[in-house]
Amino acid sequence: MNINKLEMNCIIYTIGDELLMGQTIDTNSAFIAQKLNPIGIKIMERRSIADDRKAILDAIAYGMQNHNVIIFTGGLGPTKDDITKKTIADFFNVPLIRHDKTFEHVKAFFEKRNRPFLDVNHYQADVPSNCEVLFNKAGTAPGMWIEHQGAILISLPGVPFEMEYLMEYEVIPRLKKRSKTPALIYSYIQTAGIGESFLAKNIEFIEEALPDYIKLSYLPNPYRVNLRLSTTQEYENDMLSFKNQMIQELGDAVYGESTNTIFEHFFNFLDHRKWLVSFAESCTGGFLVNEMTNISGASRILSESYVVYSEASKMDKLGVAKEIIDAHTVYSAECAEAMAIACLEKSKSHIAIASTGILEATKDQKPFAFIAIAIQGKVVSRKVDLFYGRNKNKETVAVVAIFEALKWFKKDF
Ligand code: ATP
Ligand code: MG
Repeated sequence: MNINKLEMNCIIYTIGDELLMGQTIDTNSAFIAQKLNPIGIKIMERRSIADDRKAILDAIAYGMQNHNVIIFTGGLGPTKDDITKKTIADFFNVPLIRHDKTFEHVKAFFEKRNRPFLDVNHYQADVPSNCEVLFNKAGTAPGMWIEHQGAILISLPGVPFEMEYLMEYEVIPRLKKRSKTPALIYSYIQTAGIGESFLAKNIEFIEEALPDYIKLSYLPNPYRVNLRLSTTQEYENDMLSFKNQMIQELGDAVYGESTNTIFEHFFNFLDHRKWLVSFAESCTGGFLVNEMTNISGASRILSESYVVYSEASKMDKLGVAKEIIDAHTVYSAECAEAMAIACLEKSKSHIAIASTGILEATKDQKPFAFIAIAIQGKVVSRKVDLFYGRNKNKETVAVVAIFEALKWFKKDF
């Protein structure tokens, strides 16, 4: 069976009682949606349904009536509660038949792991006779692709990495071939230090001039807002020219033009210069070093990190002078600067970054922090006002420190 190129409208169903109860957080449908959007497939609905025959039958019927791409994830395994496959076969009134390649694969899978190959496992290789199998190298449950009366029904396993594998290598390439709508291309402007509404005000006149074939979205995070422009291939140059106008307008607030995190930008900056960084963290409590060590190649740029939380450890471990703390408290620019300088000297790094502050509001004190950056005997610091709860405040302090470091280094080094 073959269908011509389609204007594709999609519904994504996630199947599983544990999803409905909130025991498992549905990340699959977000992943799928993120993959479909760029290839021009419109996501019309995302729904979660029970591991229940009637619920699945109704879902297929509704999906086929209202949309032309219906994607299921979950309930494909060999256990009794995994009824998706059988229910799909029943809906189309076709039998389940053995898929030999999958059978061999599942058998080998169990042999390799020295696990008994039970009858229920044989069932893994059975699929509705009207489907094309999406061969699952990442696991045992095969994916399925069924075309019926101008619609495409896709069923994928629920295990996230298996679903991701099949989306990437089997589903997206097939859908791309069939989608009539041209794929979208994206371009990013990453900013920090300007709130979303203020940012919007700054570029309002450019946004108003955008033609309707170029879309702009705001993606906010603590202290940062990413701007995402999208269009189709033929308008790429137009989009880039609007993007450049925005970058001009936003000036110093722009720290990147990709989907890299601000920490990855910092990593690249250091790696390029073969510089080492060290941290003296109080209120960020290791957040900075954790972010850096999440990046592959971290050992090339990271020297060491101190978590000096107590007043005593700031003095004992780093050698911050008692006089500074007595005169200014630990929550001060002076203390942050002393921490950064001491850290720079101790670690023999090129750069040291320090944080100190209060993450949670008290009766008479709003949360705030100081960050300091030391490089080649020079040090700068600044206050960071904090507006969120503990975790987001911690992230904010870390981001401000990195953003300020990037800004400073790009100017002077
Ligand atoms: P299996 O062969 O492992 O049984 P399956 O297709 O039957 O795969 P499920 O039994 O529905 O999948 O789920 C398997 C695992 O994947 C569970 O741990 C579940 O929590 C997780 N999972 C299922 N659906 C989702 C989802 N929408 N988002 C995130 N995780 C999910
Ligand atoms: Mg299962």
